[in-house]
Amino acid sequence: MDFALTQEQRQIRDTVAEFVDEEVVPRAAEIDETDEFPADLIDEMAELGLMGMPIPEEYGGAGLDYHAYPEALVEISRGSGGLGTIVAAHVSLACNMVYEFGDESQRERYLTPMAEGEEIGAFALSEPGAGSDVPAMETTAEPVGDADDPDAYTIDGGKLWISNGSVADTVVVFAKTDPEAGGKGISSFVVRPGEDDGFHVEGTEHKLGDKGCPTAELRFDGMEIPAERRLGEEGEGFVQALKTLNGGRITIAARSIGLAQAALDDALEYAQDREQFDQPISEFQAIQHKLADMDTKIQAARYLMHAAADRKMRGDRYVKEAAQAKLYASEMAREVCNEAIQIHGGYGYTKDFAVERYYRDAKLSEIYEGTSEVLRNTIADQLLE
Ligand SMILES: Cc1cc2nc3c(=O)[nH]c(=O)nc-3n(C[C@H](O)[C@H](O)[C@H](O)COP(=O)(O)OP(=O)(O)OC[C@H]3O[C@@H](n4cnc5c(N)ncnc54)[C@H](O)[C@@H]3O)c2cc1C
Repeated sequence: MDFALTQEQRQIRDTVAEFVDEEVVPRAAEIDETDEFPADLIDEMAELGLMGMPIPEEYGGAGLDYHAYPEALVEISRGSGGLGTIVAAHVSLACNMVYEFGDESQRERYLTPMAEGEEIGAFALSEPGAGSDVPAMETTAEPVGDADDPDAYTIDGGKLWISNGSVADTVVVFAKTDPEAGGKGISSFVVRPGEDDGFHVEGTEHKLGDKGCPTAELRFDGMEIPAERRLGEEGEGFVQALKTLNGGRITIAARSIGLAQAALDDALEYAQDREQFDQPISEFQAIQHKLADMDTKIQAARYLMHAAADRKMRGDRYVKEAAQAKLYASEMAREVCNEAIQIHGGYGYTKDFAVERYYRDAKLSEIYEGTSEVLRNTIADQLLE
């Protein structure tokens, strides 16, 4: 694997970093405080091509490879963890589902407006009783008309924890077309909240962090959608979800690295400013070692992220590598943000400094798109296969 980014990949990262420093960093505390979806920032990001980064240009995306895209997401998340989730859920999950499993007409109709940033996407898999245990889902999609060649599906049920769920124009919904068949009975559908009667947003969560990204509870009451909105064949939904989450894990690693980098940057600055015992605290070896460990862990997570990305781009199996990148990066981010608070002392525990926000935002990466426990199961399964 070649670890060095190309000049083009570095340029893309630097352009995004500049945008983040100018537009996102100054807004991040306000987004955290108000918990409002930053629609104006999304419009600006759409203009820069950041809402469809890895999607081919023919479908409105920027055609970035899987080194440049996660690097860009590191930068976005360095500015705001909530914004990182908005983009990751929209691009890595919703856009990629339609790109990978949609037909040409579905791509043109639903993917292009999302990749151009005109529409927002969400990915609705989890339910109150089905988080890690996806096949336990209870949402059903009943065929209307001929069961072998239906005209439409009636979707009943609900979804929980759906990032972008209350603002999305397209929601990729997973539902059981064969409730007796476990994971093999799950199919995926493009749902259009603005068009489909029976789609309801029940509310949004009040969360520890990840503010600005609305996490919604959705309900579907006899929601009839045309059969042409099904992605792929009946019964393929579970495998589609797993494949999509695999790629998604690389970008959650990126979100974690961005938050950890922000914490390290702030800790470095603070340690050189803050004086105790007539010297900057950066003169104390205890603080220096913390900074050294923080940077070392961030670099290690970066390598794991790019190692997984490399295998994905080569078309190699990357289930273990994506799980390892996300597992290591998310736990690393929580630890690094914790140390950043420690270096800030009492000030770090207040809202006067951003490190407490990074810590709250970082925690989420250990939970969604596969908890750390589930990822350890995945890695062990791959080792023992
Ligand atoms: C802010 C936020 C945003 C989210 N966004 C989305 C989204 O956009 N779309 C979506 O579909 N979902 C989303 N989720 C849902 C998320 O993916 C789930 O919360 C996650 O998969 C865990 O499911 P759960 O919360 O039901 O926990 P559970 O599955 O109930 O797990 C509870 C605990 O048990 C452990 N556990 C469960 N099974 C095992 C096992 N087999 N072995 C060992 N330990 C196990 C878990 O690791 C965890 O510690 C989001 C969640 C949050 C909090």
